[in-house]
Amino acid sequence: MLEVEKLNAFYGSAQALFDVSLQVRGGELVVLQGLNGAGKSTLLKALMGLEVRTEGHILFQASPAQASLLDIQRWESHRRARAGLGYVAEDRRLFVGLTVSENLHVAASRAAAAKAMETRVLDLFPVLKTKLKRPAAHLSGGEQQMLAIARTLMTSPRILLLDEPCEGLAPVLVESIRDTLLALKCDGLALLVAEQNRLFASHADRSLTLVAGKVRDS
Ligand code: ATP
Repeated sequence: MLEVEKLNAFYGSAQALFDVSLQVRGGELVVLQGLNGAGKSTLLKALMGLEVRTEGHILFQASPAQASLLDIQRWESHRRARAGLGYVAEDRRLFVGLTVSENLHVAASRAAAAKAMETRVLDLFPVLKTKLKRPAAHLSGGEQQMLAIARTLMTSPRILLLDEPCEGLAPVLVESIRDTLLALKCDGLALLVAEQNRLFASHADRSLTLVAGKVRDS
C-alpha cells in the first residue's frame, strides 16, 4: 500500500533523511525505531508532506481497486490526507479550546457520514464517549492521545502514521491504545509507528531502525 524509495529530506540545506526505503502493506504494523534526532518524526512528516523538502518516491495505493501505485511525493499534504494517509503528530495538534465532539467533527471528511463515523471511533475509545462536551484541554494526556487518534480515524485513512503515540502515558493507557491500534490492524489498517521504547515491537510485522537519517541494515 505504501512504498518509499530512496527518500531524502531536507530542512533548508540540512539533509535529515538519506535514501530511506520501506514498505507497509494493508494490515501490517511497521515500527520505526531510533534514538532522539535519528529522523523518525522527519520521516513521518516527509510522508505527510509537512515541513520538509523531499526527493525520491512515495508510492501509495489510495484504494484496493487501484492497480498501480501513485507517486504522491509532490502532493500537498491535504491531498495526501484525502487519499488515505492519516497522521498523528507527537504533539497531537488538538484544538484544545474545542470540545471532544467538535474536534472529531472538524476532521470528518464528509459531513453526511460524520455521525456514523463518530459512533465507530467512539466505540474504539469508549472513554471519550462520556466526555464529548468537554474541552480537549481538560482531558488527561492519555485521553488527548486517544482523541488525536480518533480524530484522524474520522478521515477514514488506509494507513496511520503515528509519532510516539504512547510517549509519557500511564501504562494502563498505553495498553489500551496499543490494543485498539492492533484491533484496527486486524481490520486491515496499515500502521507505521515511530517509537523509542519497545511497546509495539513484539507485534510488528517489521521493524526499521533509523540512525542519523539512514535505515540501519538489520
Ligand atoms: P525525536 O524522538 O527526538 O523526535 P526523531 O528521531 O523524531 O527524534 P527528528 O525530530 O526527525 O528525529 O530529527 C532528525 C534531525 O532533523 C535532527 O538532527 C534534528 O535536529 C533535525 N530537525 C528536526 N526538525 C528540524 C527543523 N524544524 N529544522 C531543522 N532541523 C530539524
